[in-house]
Amino acid sequence: MNEFGLIDTLRARCAQPRDDVVLGIGDDSALLAVPDRRQLVACADTLVAGIHFLPDAAPEDLGWRALAVNLSDLAAMGAEPAWALLALTLPQSYPCFVERFADGFSELARQYGVALVGGDTTEGPLSITVTALGFVPPGRALTRRGARAGDAIFVTGTLGDAVAALYGLRDGVLGAGRTTVAPALLTAMNRPRPRIAAGLALRGVATACIDVSDGLLADLGHICAESGVGAELDAEALPISNTLANTFDHAACIDMALSGGDNYELCFTVPSARAAEIAGLFASIACGATRIGHVVVGAGVVALDARGNRVTTRSAGWEHFAH
Ligand code: ADP
Ligand code: MG
Repeated sequence: MNEFGLIDTLRARCAQPRDDVVLGIGDDSALLAVPDRRQLVACADTLVAGIHFLPDAAPEDLGWRALAVNLSDLAAMGAEPAWALLALTLPQSYPCFVERFADGFSELARQYGVALVGGDTTEGPLSITVTALGFVPPGRALTRRGARAGDAIFVTGTLGDAVAALYGLRDGVLGAGRTTVAPALLTAMNRPRPRIAAGLALRGVATACIDVSDGLLADLGHICAESGVGAELDAEALPISNTLANTFDHAACIDMALSGGDNYELCFTVPSARAAEIAGLFASIACGATRIGHVVVGAGVVALDARGNRVTTRSAGWEHFAH
């Protein structure tokens, strides 16, 4: 199958009907109608074989993840997703890979009504770049900039599951008594759920927000740097799934929760006077939100154990070009 056959495969499986797509896949550019009184929110994220996924990852999972990591960036801005572009580089023409990739991509795209409206298909080392576009009412986007000393810090869902799956598959670190990686951990790694509903609910409530893609310490550190504040976390309050807690000892769970990447949960700050509203706000959303610390005057992020001692981690979080 040639380039255009592969594009037709993607088009047939991923083009969602949307009134605001004036012209989708097939012309030199997509033509899109941005709704009145909306700001366009745009992001792009790349997955590279061997860096962001293991070489034997299932194509369906790659399709899902390539879109999910981008929708997670839109979620962190409080945006409503609308459109996506896909730049796909493949070592060879693998029609079967593209079909399976498109199935995973469209499975998630359908859940949020996201239309694939264009992209590029080239030959080379396996690499996937998705651009996602969404909307936010003017002035309502969540950013990394508004955290103030005294704000409460929350995180959605649970932390550490995805990196635990990576340690299992890549390094054979499976946890006591296990011979395979627990399915729930694999799901966390392969099928992250972008917290779109949480991001929308936090508009006008959160003072700052970020998605936890590189690890909680690293990503909360970005909020602190942009807001000119520090953060103190209660390590005992970190939300850890039952599966993770049953698989690894307590210290390992805390370490993975603080420094493990690929979580795609939202970490956000809220004025302490409004912290009590969060439980009600999240009651109708399919993920919880846990209070894990507070913003302080100063700089940097520290995590404290039950005795008030600083917790050190094996790594500070993922960073490209740091090796
Ligand atoms: P051009 O040569 O004008 O850049 P292409 O031949 O690269 O156009 O692409 C033809 C059409 O297919 C364009 O509308 C482009 O956006 C779309 N397209 C190409 N690759 C992809 C892809 N991987 N996913 C979605 N759309 C794609
Ligand atoms: Mg092109």
